[in-house]
Amino acid sequence: MSGIFDTRIEYLKGVGPQKAELLNKELNIFTYGDMLQHYPFRYEDRTKFFKIRELREELESVQLIARIKSVELVGAGGKRRMVAHVFDETGEMEMTWFKGIQWVQKKLPVGAVYVFLGKPAQYGRKWSMAHPEMEPLTTANETRNKFQPVYSTTEKLRASFMDSKGISRIMEQLIPLAFPHIPETLSQDILHQYQLIGKPESIRQIHFPTAPDLLNRARKRLKFEEFFYLQLRLLTMKVTRTEKSRGQVLSSTDLLTDFYKNHIPFELTNAQKRVIREAFTDMKSGKQMNRLIQGDVGSGKTMVAFICMLIAISSGAQACLMTPTEILANQHYEGLKEYADMMGMKIALLTGSTKKSARSVIHEALGNGTLKILIGTHALLEDVVQFQNLGLAIVDEQHRFGVAQRAKLWTKNDEFIPHVLVMTATPIPRTLAMTLYGDLDVSVIDELPAGRKPIQTVHRYDKDRLKVFGFIREEIRKGRQVYIVYPLIEESETMDLKNLMDGYESIARAFPQYPLSIVHGGMKSDAKDFEMQRFIKGETKIMVATTVIEVGVNVPNASVMIIENAERFGLSQLHQLRGRVGRGAEQSYCILMSKYELSKDSRIRLETMVRTNDGFEIADVDLRLRGPGDLMGTQQSGISDLLIADLSKDAPILTVARDAAQQLLANDPELSHAENAPILRQIKQQKKTAVNWSRIS
Ligand code: ADP
Ligand code: MG
Repeated sequence: MSGIFDTRIEYLKGVGPQKAELLNKELNIFTYGDMLQHYPFRYEDRTKFFKIRELREELESVQLIARIKSVELVGAGGKRRMVAHVFDETGEMEMTWFKGIQWVQKKLPVGAVYVFLGKPAQYGRKWSMAHPEMEPLTTANETRNKFQPVYSTTEKLRASFMDSKGISRIMEQLIPLAFPHIPETLSQDILHQYQLIGKPESIRQIHFPTAPDLLNRARKRLKFEEFFYLQLRLLTMKVTRTEKSRGQVLSSTDLLTDFYKNHIPFELTNAQKRVIREAFTDMKSGKQMNRLIQGDVGSGKTMVAFICMLIAISSGAQACLMTPTEILANQHYEGLKEYADMMGMKIALLTGSTKKSARSVIHEALGNGTLKILIGTHALLEDVVQFQNLGLAIVDEQHRFGVAQRAKLWTKNDEFIPHVLVMTATPIPRTLAMTLYGDLDVSVIDELPAGRKPIQTVHRYDKDRLKVFGFIREEIRKGRQVYIVYPLIEESETMDLKNLMDGYESIARAFPQYPLSIVHGGMKSDAKDFEMQRFIKGETKIMVATTVIEVGVNVPNASVMIIENAERFGLSQLHQLRGRVGRGAEQSYCILMSKYELSKDSRIRLETMVRTNDGFEIADVDLRLRGPGDLMGTQQSGISDLLIADLSKDAPILTVARDAAQQLLANDPELSHAENAPILRQIKQQKKTAVNWSRIS
């Protein structure tokens, strides 16, 4: 927006320098344009009058018409309150005031009829409303037909008469002034094709709705616009990337054929095959691959990674796999070494704890190309690590890595940017994937290997602990192994660590006959590794740990996952942890332990875990509970620019907006058609104010 929209808010009648300064500080509102975009976050429905009999607890705000029957002062001292008994033809209720009693008293003549507005609450069988707004019934307010906007505001603003109503009054000044100057920001084609109302009208309706239907259309239009520009930006980045970055052609399948014929230990699932095909298509295309593989825990991403490595190596290139933790790097190394050995292929592990002498051997073998596969942590990113020809870089459990670290991978080959595969076990709802990774191609492994028994999940309270211990004993007797996981959160680290150690001791007392492993973040990495290895080899039966085991660890014989203080974990974390079991042929179990009193959200999280094993369903619930703001990468992706659109609720609009953006770029990639001038103008305008979008992947 430009022109009048850049006008500073203090020049608006009724605002002035003092209020303007508060608006700057409290709401980041500097200009007319900012103010117009301070959309109401909800509306009070003044179209309906409730009857007393229709009241329900869950109603946020209702208005009703009632006649005053009697008024009395009740209680004394601090508890003194004014009560007006009122009635309509369906029942009786109370209006109460704890403050401003004298002022209210004058306004409450017995027999008068008022419109009351407020939140109804029920005490016993009696309905009441505290501090309702009220005005005498007139023909005007009885026939009034509107939605009253409610604006977010702050204590300080309220103290300066800028509560929701005050902001509404500012809008009353601003909108008539601005309306004739609000530019259309979408093309006529798009407005027409998607049946959207114009920008000026939608701004007016969003602040002063004249009818529910128009308000809905205004909201839809503004949401569409936000998604549309977000998608346009991401799609443009993707086009730029694929056009600019040549990719090494990796098209040989010699090693693959050998592996399939002679070594592969199991039949690939159809989903694995499909994803390998998708990656292969990219790798041989001559364009650089930038692909995200989403696969629920246990879906077999490692094998997909290995097969893609084989394609790269067949074609004369090298491959690397980067993991967020050393434990995970070790595990991948152990697993892949088995396959690499079968194929007579050199593979190495590089982490922070790799000895100096071993390092120089690795560096040399990388440089002369004899080392084909390098597995490791971010130690891989160090400048001294130079490949002869890195063709494929795989990043496992991507959410742990920062954007900059991934970009560093790109510099590991001078001639071509390596192909990049990012693997994540955090399923992201499609809507979010489209937005977060709009510039990545996404493959989904949506099938688990056959024969897996779904993990059984239960929720138990701390008082059931003895029974749970009994269950553990039984499972160990059957030959299984058990994880017991404790939360460890930085803010409460000391407490959590004590909790973990106490837990460890009580477990040691309960199971004196079984050796235990313990792993937590405070331990040195070789100590961690030692403990982990004992568990992997089956020497210890119980692994007591913090969430360091959350990602990737694979011990098929472990069939029981106990999560202590489960209410403190987030949903995706719980799902990740649970994914550590259910990897063998045996029935596996996940037991979520919690205290008895739970917040509403905690309860929903635990119930969701008990109800389903489906990572995508879990991710959906998670998104609804937390909102997208918490998710990694949202800062860069432009999600924080969404003022009115909501990724968790407006998926259908997002899909349509994405189609529209795609269509536009297909028909007019340069946006040179006169028809698309408004869009080009808007993009330029946004660029002026925007952060740097150039590199998010
Ligand atoms: P994740 O996707 O969680 O990384 P992994 O790659 O660790 O999963 O695989 C989980 C387990 O499933 C491993 O033990 C692996 O060997 C096994 N696995 C992978 N693919 C198949 C398959 N197609 N059939 C049977 N088992 C498989
Ligand atoms: Mg994995």
